[in-house]
Amino acid sequence: MEGFVSLLDPRNPDVRVELGMARAEYALRASSMAFAEQLAAIHETLIEARAFPEIFVGPSYLSIPDAVAFAERAAIADLAVRLGLAEQTVRAQAEQARVLLLCAPRVWSGFRDGDIPAPNARIVADLAATLPATAWLAFEDAIVEAASTVAPARFRGCARAARERVQPEAAAELHRRTAEERRVWVEHDIDGMSWLTAYLPSAVAQRAMAHLDCVAQSLVSAPDEPRTLAQLRADVAGDLLAGVLGSEGPHVGVAVGVMVPVLTLLGLSEQPGTLEGYGPIDADTARELAGHAPSFIRILTDPITGTILDIDRTAYRVPADLKRWLQMRDGTCTFTGCGRRAADCDLDHNIAWADGGTTSAGNLSHLCRNHHRLKHNSRWKVEHVPEGITWTSPTGHVSRPDPPPF
Ligand SMILES: [Zn+2]
Repeated sequence: MEGFVSLLDPRNPDVRVELGMARAEYALRASSMAFAEQLAAIHETLIEARAFPEIFVGPSYLSIPDAVAFAERAAIADLAVRLGLAEQTVRAQAEQARVLLLCAPRVWSGFRDGDIPAPNARIVADLAATLPATAWLAFEDAIVEAASTVAPARFRGCARAARERVQPEAAAELHRRTAEERRVWVEHDIDGMSWLTAYLPSAVAQRAMAHLDCVAQSLVSAPDEPRTLAQLRADVAGDLLAGVLGSEGPHVGVAVGVMVPVLTLLGLSEQPGTLEGYGPIDADTARELAGHAPSFIRILTDPITGTILDIDRTAYRVPADLKRWLQMRDGTCTFTGCGRRAADCDLDHNIAWADGGTTSAGNLSHLCRNHHRLKHNSRWKVEHVPEGITWTSPTGHVSRPDPPPF
C-alpha cells in the first residue's frame, strides 16, 4: 500500500527511538552483570591467593608469619597491572563483593542478574560495611526493592536514611571514628593547576602541601603525640585556615624542586620545566620560579650533559643532590601504576649494594613501602631496562615501563 509505514519498519522514527531505548536498557543490564562478574572473579582469586600463597611468594618466605598477607598483596598488584586499575580499586572491588555476599546476599544476586545497577550495588556495599552484623538483615530489607528501581542519586539518600534507622551506635561515636580518617590531599588538574580543594597554581599547591607536611613532621615525633601524620596535616591545615595557627607557628623553609632546561632559563627555548610532584610546567612559570622564588630548589638540566649526576658513587648513602634528582626523575613510586609520591618512598638499590650494585641513578629507583616489601618478599621481579623499569608478576604478566613524568 503506497505511503504506508509499518509499525515495525525502521523508516518509522518511533520504531528507531524504541529500538534505541531497548538497546540502552539491554547494554546497562549486561554491563551490571559483567561488572558483578569482575568483582566476583577478583574476590575469588584473592581467596585462592590466601589459600595457596606459594603461587605468589617464594619458598623462603612461606614460613614468615605474614606470608598469606604478602601473597594477597602480590596478587592484588598482579590483578591491578593486568586490569589497568589502581591496587586500591582492586582491593575495594574485592571488598565490595565480600561485603555484598555476606551482608546483603539478595542485593548481590540482583546485581549479578543485572537487575540492580552497579552504582546502587556499590552504595549498598559501602554503607553495609559500616554496620554491625546485627543490623545487616534490617538494612537489606529496607533497601533491596529500591536498589533495582531508584536511580543512584536518589537511592543514595534512601540508603543513607535506612542506615541511620537501623544503626544501633550513637552518632557522636560514629563521628569520632570517622574523624580519625581526616587528611589533606592534592589532585592535579591540567594547565599547571591543582586542587587542594582550592583551585590553585600547582606551584602554590605543592608548596602549601610541603609546608603542611613539614609542620606535621615537626609535631609527629613529640613523645605524647597520638595523631598520625595524615591527621596532623589535616589539623595544621584546619588551624592555619581558621587563623588559629598564625605565622608564629613552626616556620621552616620548605623547598620544592623545579627543574629547568638551561636553554629555557636563558630564554632561548620554550621547552617546559618540571615541578616536583606535579610534572611539566610552562616555560614562563619555570623561568619565574627558578629566577625569583626563594623556596624552590633550582635544578638546571643541560640538554647535552644532562647525565651529570648519573655517575657511579662509591658510598652506600645516596648523596643529597642525587636523591633530589631521582625524586624529580621518578616523581612517584616506580611500580607500574602506583601514584605514591617519591618524597614518601624508599630509594631502592635494584642490585643490592652488597652484591656490587652501585649508588647511581641507573641502579636506584623509588619504591613505596608496600612495593618495596613486595619486591623483596614476593615473586614479583623487577628489571632496569633503558626505557625504565619492567615488572614481571608472580603469574608471569610483564608490564612495560610507565611513560616518564616529563
Ligand atoms: Zn608503590
